[in-house]
Order: sequence, then structure tokens, then C-alpha cells
Amino acid sequence: MTSCKEFHRRSIEDRDGFWTEQAALVDWHKPFSKVLDYSRPPFAKWFVGGETNLCHNAVDRHLAARGDQKAIVYISTEVDREISYTYRELHAEVNRLAAIMLGMGVKRGDRVIIYMPMIPEAAFAMLACARIGAIHSVVFGGFAAASLAARIDDAKPSLMITSDAGMRAGKIVPYKHLVDESIRLAKHPPSKVLLVDRKLDPGMTRVEGRDADYATLRAQHMNAQVPVTWMESSEPSYILYTSGTTGHPKGVQRDVGGYTVALAASMKHIYCGAPGETMFTTSDIGWVVGHSYIIYGPLLAGMTSILYEGTPIRPDAGIWWKIVADHKVSVMFSAPTAIRVLKKQDPAFLKKYDLSALRHLFLAGEPLDEPTHSWITEALGRPVIDHYWQTETGWPILSSMPGIEATPVKFGSPSFPAYGYDLRLLRESDASDAADGEKGVVAIVPPLPPGCMTTVWGDDARFVKTYFSTFSSKQVYSTFDWGIRDKDGYYFILGRTDDVINVAGHRLGTREIEEAVSAHPNVAEVAVVGVADNLKGQLPIAFVVLKDVSRTATPELRAQAEKDVMATVDKQLGAIGRPGRVHFVTALPKTRSGKMLRRSIQALAEGRDPGDLTTIEDPTALEQIKSVLAAK
Ligand code: ATP
Ligand code: MG
Repeated sequence: MTSCKEFHRRSIEDRDGFWTEQAALVDWHKPFSKVLDYSRPPFAKWFVGGETNLCHNAVDRHLAARGDQKAIVYISTEVDREISYTYRELHAEVNRLAAIMLGMGVKRGDRVIIYMPMIPEAAFAMLACARIGAIHSVVFGGFAAASLAARIDDAKPSLMITSDAGMRAGKIVPYKHLVDESIRLAKHPPSKVLLVDRKLDPGMTRVEGRDADYATLRAQHMNAQVPVTWMESSEPSYILYTSGTTGHPKGVQRDVGGYTVALAASMKHIYCGAPGETMFTTSDIGWVVGHSYIIYGPLLAGMTSILYEGTPIRPDAGIWWKIVADHKVSVMFSAPTAIRVLKKQDPAFLKKYDLSALRHLFLAGEPLDEPTHSWITEALGRPVIDHYWQTETGWPILSSMPGIEATPVKFGSPSFPAYGYDLRLLRESDASDAADGEKGVVAIVPPLPPGCMTTVWGDDARFVKTYFSTFSSKQVYSTFDWGIRDKDGYYFILGRTDDVINVAGHRLGTREIEEAVSAHPNVAEVAVVGVADNLKGQLPIAFVVLKDVSRTATPELRAQAEKDVMATVDKQLGAIGRPGRVHFVTALPKTRSGKMLRRSIQALAEGRDPGDLTTIEDPTALEQIKSVLAAK
């Protein structure tokens, strides 16, 4: 058996040989003529000249051998439904929706924004786009109209697909009216909207001539057969917006061939998902984990994928384990936040169900603290694999690879570099290699492996500037995370070099929240920092300078002003971005060059030392932060 080390070494030293082997895991309509074109660094083109299709590999390819096997099982504890789709049924649904989209004028290369709850139609929509070569951009349903409008203006979609409403913890969350509002706000609105009416929102309205009804059109296309569009390997498959620390979201663009191969390989070597088995990923289709490991990954592997609409604790905290037992889930993927939520519940739920089919639980998205890691490992009696990756990479950067070799788990560590990544820990000062036990920036020597982002949508210069310009002496990809490696080669992620807040696994740029707060007419200036929170990982805290300070003269007025600011964020960004607290000050601490001392504010808010303050412009500003924090 090959060791992980050897497997990784070969992937770097014999890149062409290695990826040619992996490429054989998927179907090619036309074989590629070259494994990698790296003539324009840092832009990498994988499997040049090859033609393939994600939908073909995820659906059509399985029809002969497993047409009657379940492909997707939709389980909703919100509307109390369970519906299964075999590969054959999934194929039929995707063909119907592809035909509907073609009928609405969607062409190869057109963008389609999908703003939908966790329902099967969302999966059909993604796969139908892939089938006809349209570029989907799924936007997480928690984003408010203004955020959605910004993404519309960047992607310029010809079609949006949405639903009347989602449900979260028993409450109706309207989607359609947010779409209407975002289209009013957008400069480049789509001309058509396709609406899946779940009949959850009786107040929903339709726009004549623009909105089309999915059920009506579906009935007209019951026997549709839409041939797949064979795509050149590096044509775009989708765009997925990151939360964006600059406030202006970055459209992570991915290719077709590299992504298909990367996911198929990861299903084999990392997740160990065999055809016919079931995978349960508890994320949302609006996030990269949902793209890669609810939809494409498990289907590429011929597995059954669970599409779960609901929370981990309704109707009770045993619901996920019940799903694992009922559907004999062998691969599960979740996030540390969710596990911390479950840790607070009655442990009896974990003993109540037969979890014997489960081989591994994978966790990603934020640091997994040692106590949570050891608790869940013990409770499940199975390896719990912390792995580390980013929207940008589409699949794990650091992970153990149980499909190659069973290596010991170290609590708090996402193990070591996955094959394909020439990973380094670099000193911030001069980009030299950090020693074992020394903190460094986690960086990847390009070319990035297959599956990773190929550029920022519509902005090649931004791709280079954002990701490859951290060090002037070396063109390397920066993850913007700090890491450290122990003497056994295990890595530990120490935190971010930039300012992103991770609230219950949802990523928000501090800048994005600050912009939302600033939309309040009485706000002059604001600094948002993330502070550690036992339950949610991080919670945004806002420090606000008001234009009219008389509005916070009394405790009652202050409380009202705090509520008003929170309501503004809800409206601009969505409740996921709502600050846990809003503190009012008359000045914010800045350097003499005008840069906000965010790290110092954050340190104070977390009760730590604010660090080096020699460049501070006005020391009283920091005193104010201290006193408002002490007051509450
Ligand atoms: P944006 O790039 O828009 O600012 P984001 O970086 O929060 O947002 P993601 O790409 O979803 O969005 O998150 C990737 C980041 O999450 C990593 O860079 C890292 O900071 C964190 N992360 C992911 N997995 C782990 C893990 N296993 N351990 C520690 N941190 C992790
Ligand atoms: Mg990031």
C-alpha cells in the first residue's frame, strides 16, 4: 500500500502522470492532449483540449449500472417530507429543467443565479446548468436583497431561479420577495425569473412577463431529452461568491474538467465513498461544501446523497443520527459549529441509533477545537477527520487520506497536505520557509491543482493581486491563514491573516458588515470585529461613531440605537451578519496612516492584550473601547 507521503510526493514530482491517472476516474467525450498548460502563471489550465461534462459524469454515466439506485434523498424536517430520486428520475428531472431553461433562452456561457432553499429543485437547477453549459451562481438564501443585487450586477445573469420561500426552524423565510427587491436594486437585472412555488408564502406576488412558473413549464416538458453540451475542460462551470473582505464580493470561478477530476479523486482517496453507499453532508448548497459534497462529489461517485432541509436539533437533537441510521450513511460531512451545538444536548441521542454504517465523520470550515474533536470522536467511536480548505480550492488542502493510508488523528489538527498541493509555511517577513514549530502563512506554490479556482470572474488582475501578491519576492498563493507544523508533519491552523468573521460556519467579511452598518443614516463610522463565541465560533461586534451623539444620551436611547443598527444590518445583509453587540464611541482607534487598528480592538473585545500601539493616532480612542466593553 502506498503511503500518504509517497502519494503526495508523486503528485508534485510526476504531476502529469499522477493527474492522468486521476483523470481516468471520469468520462471524457474527447481526450485531453495536454495535462497542464501553465504558460501564463499563475493561471493554470488543466486537461487541455479535453471535452467533458459535469452533469454527464454525475448523472448520465450511472444510468446503465445504477439507474434504479437512489441518487438524492430529500429530507425536510421543516415541511415534514422525504422524497427519493433514483438516478433515472434525477436524469428525467434535470432534462426537464434543462429544456425549460433552453426554452427561456439560456445559452452556453450564460449565467444563472440560483437563490433557493434546500429543495431537490435546487439540485436539478445546478445540474441542468451544467448539462447545457450555463454557468450557475448559487447565492446562499440568508443573504439580503442588497447583497443579492451586488452579486447580480457582477454576474449579469440572464435567468434567476428561486422559490417562494424557505423554512428555518419552523419559520417561513421569504425568498421571492427578496429576489424582486434585489432586481429593483440591480443595474443588470435578469430578464427572466423561474419560480418554484412551494406554496409556503401566500403573500408572494408574481411579475407578469418576467416570472415563469416551474410546475407549469415542467408539465410541458415531461419527456424532454436534452443532449449534454460537451465543454472544453477549462470553460467555466460555475461562479461562487465569497463573502469578500473588501465588501465587493469575489466571484470564484471554476472550470469543468479540473473540477470533475478533482472531486472524483477526492471521493476516492479522502472521503472513501463507494458507489451505492450514502453520503450525508450537512452544509447548504449556497456554500462551496454544498456544491462539492452535497451535489457533485457524491453523484460523481455514484453514491446516494442526502439533501437535508432543517436544523440539527429539530424535532430533537437526534435527527442527524436518525438519518445516519435510517439511510446507512457511510460518509458524513459537517462543521465544528454544528458539533458544538450537539455537544450541548443530551448525549443519549448519540446512543439511540445504529451508526454502524458510518466510517468517518469529516469536519471543515473553521478551527476544530481539541475538546470538541475528542468529544465527538469518543461519542461516535469512529475517526473524526478535521480537514481544511477554502471556497477557492473547492476540495481539501489539508487532510488525512484514509483511502490511501489510515494515519493517526491528532486532535486539533487537519493532518497534512493533500496530494496536488505544494504547500508551504512561509515567514511573513521574507517568504522563507518556516521551521517546524514556527508560525507561518499557509501558502501554495502554483500551479494550483485541478478543481481550484481558475480566476476571479471577470477580473483576472484581481485574481493575481488578491491571491498571489502577498510576497513580493515569490509568486505564491496565499490562503491568508496562519499555520504551524509539528515534528511529525501535522499542521495546525492558527487563524486568519485577514479580517473575516466566521459566524456559525457562515463567512462574513468585517468590511461587508461595516458597510451594512454604515447604511444607517446616523452612523458616521464603524469598526466590526469578530470575537470568539463558544457556540457560534465567532460573533461580530460593532463599534459605532454616531453623527448625532444626543441619540445615545441615555441608556434607553442607547438600547434603541443599538436595535436600530441591528435592524439595518438585517435589512442590508441578512440576519446572519447582525452584530451580537453594538457599542457607541466618539472615536475609533487608528494608526497615523489612517488604518483601523482592528486587531487591537478585537484583542480588547476578547480580553487580550491590544499589542503594539506605537503607531496609534489617538490613544483615548482605545480607552473608550475599553470602557464601553467594561461597562456591559
Ligand atoms: P472570504 O474568502 O470571502 O473572505 P472565507 O475565507 O471565510 O471568506 P471560506 O472559503 O468558506 O470563506 O473559508 C475558508 C476559511 O475557513 C479558511 O481560509 C480558514 O480560515 C477556515 N477554515 C476552513 N477549514 C478549516 C479547518 N479545518 N480548520 C481551521 N480553519 C478552517
Ligand atoms: Mg477566504
